[in-house]
Amino acid sequence: MQLPEQFKKVMAQTLGEAYAGYIRALEQPPFRGLRINTLKADAEQVLLKLALQTKRTPFCTDGYYIDSNLSGLGNHPLHHAGAFYLQEPSAMAAVTALAPQPGERILDLCAAPGGKATQIAAAMQQTGVLVANEVIPGRARTLCANMERLGVSNAIVTNADPQTLGRALPGYFDRILVDAPCSGEGMIRRQPQVLEQWSEKNRLSCQQRQLHILNEADQMLRPGGCMVYSTCTLSGEENEQVIAMFLQMHPDYQLVPIQQPFGRPAFDRLCKEPSIVLARRILPQDGGEGHFVAKLQKTDRQRENVHDLHAWPASGLLKSSSGELHLFWDFYHTYFSDEPAHIVEIDGRVLLLPEQMPALPGVHVLAAGIEAGKIVGKRFVPAHGLYMAKRSVQTLELSLQDKRIFRFLRGEELDCDYNGYCGVAVEGICVGFGKASNGHLKNHYPKGLRIIGGR
Ligand code: SAM
Repeated sequence: MQLPEQFKKVMAQTLGEAYAGYIRALEQPPFRGLRINTLKADAEQVLLKLALQTKRTPFCTDGYYIDSNLSGLGNHPLHHAGAFYLQEPSAMAAVTALAPQPGERILDLCAAPGGKATQIAAAMQQTGVLVANEVIPGRARTLCANMERLGVSNAIVTNADPQTLGRALPGYFDRILVDAPCSGEGMIRRQPQVLEQWSEKNRLSCQQRQLHILNEADQMLRPGGCMVYSTCTLSGEENEQVIAMFLQMHPDYQLVPIQQPFGRPAFDRLCKEPSIVLARRILPQDGGEGHFVAKLQKTDRQRENVHDLHAWPASGLLKSSSGELHLFWDFYHTYFSDEPAHIVEIDGRVLLLPEQMPALPGVHVLAAGIEAGKIVGKRFVPAHGLYMAKRSVQTLELSLQDKRIFRFLRGEELDCDYNGYCGVAVEGICVGFGKASNGHLKNHYPKGLRIIGGR
């Protein structure tokens, strides 16, 4: 790989003894990976069905290396079904360090397209509340689609700048991930065009933005909470120095060790903070494209500055603006066997909310919990998201060998013996739904997700 001279010089200074290994690693193909979505699938079964050569990564128990030349996995029916997420292996390390727990309140502040947010969701096992935020509207929509595909039911997807979110949710979260926008130096094997925009000036402007985002994240973390800061750059200005500056501004934080022994200690010669060695770097010679991960613990002191948040009622929530929620219940009791708890109907849209739902004044909310469907006149019309997250009692089961799965993903009508709404599953994992009558299933797979061509 041809590297600009100035880039090489700066990299040699940054990486020190690791520089020679870095240059050798750049001659190798990039690492690629996938992470099994344990909310919907079992790792062993999915790997068996994919029939790929895989090896577990050191960054996440559900993460696997795949062949870097493999193509078309994004169109695989099991990908459509949300059984796995394609993710660069070292990118999985940040959530492993965050160690999300079921029942917690967690924020992913820079979340699109959703690799790490869906990984957090898997660890939370559909309990507590995950706020996944993205500032760029188009990217926030992609985030929504990925959360829906992976069947996440405890998330709120927001499209806000960190300051606006900070005003709405002071001291609210137990854990926060700041996977910050950065100069992307760890991506150059996969995206060599990163080098075209590379400059030392850009590193410094990224540094200022990263500090600003971390300061806003601090507003939202409760005392005693923990925060992980990660980037996919190798720059000391955006990694070690950002953390050193943040610690200087916030004496109520300290770096804590990351239990998993991935990568190598961060470089203490790049800043004046001796504890920086507790943060980890992953270089291309360490099994991933490049990541920096630092885990910060906030001191647990008196909660005098923490506002009591106005929250939606925690349980048994049942609200309706049109008084027609019984249409939803009639539908639900016919096709699903569980009892959903926190239901709201807003202007005809029925949502199954996460078990905790904070009020979010001034924040643009794109999605909350599961989008169950719409009340249209005297009918309830279910939505795709409901079938991605929950299993209907009526499901057309297809195998990967069955050509009908590709016909379904193309939006075609299928033969079907059921009557009424019916889930469609591939290898036992729900991928969508349709409405059956007279031996035919009318396809409700969303137009924007359909494949073109295929087997
Ligand atoms: N965590 C994501 C994942 O795992 O899929 C990747 C996040 S990417 C490294 C950083 C994100 O920060 C981008 O989606 C970008 O749009 C967003 N971003 C850019 N400027 C921002 C800002 N000023 N505040 C917050 N987020 C910002």
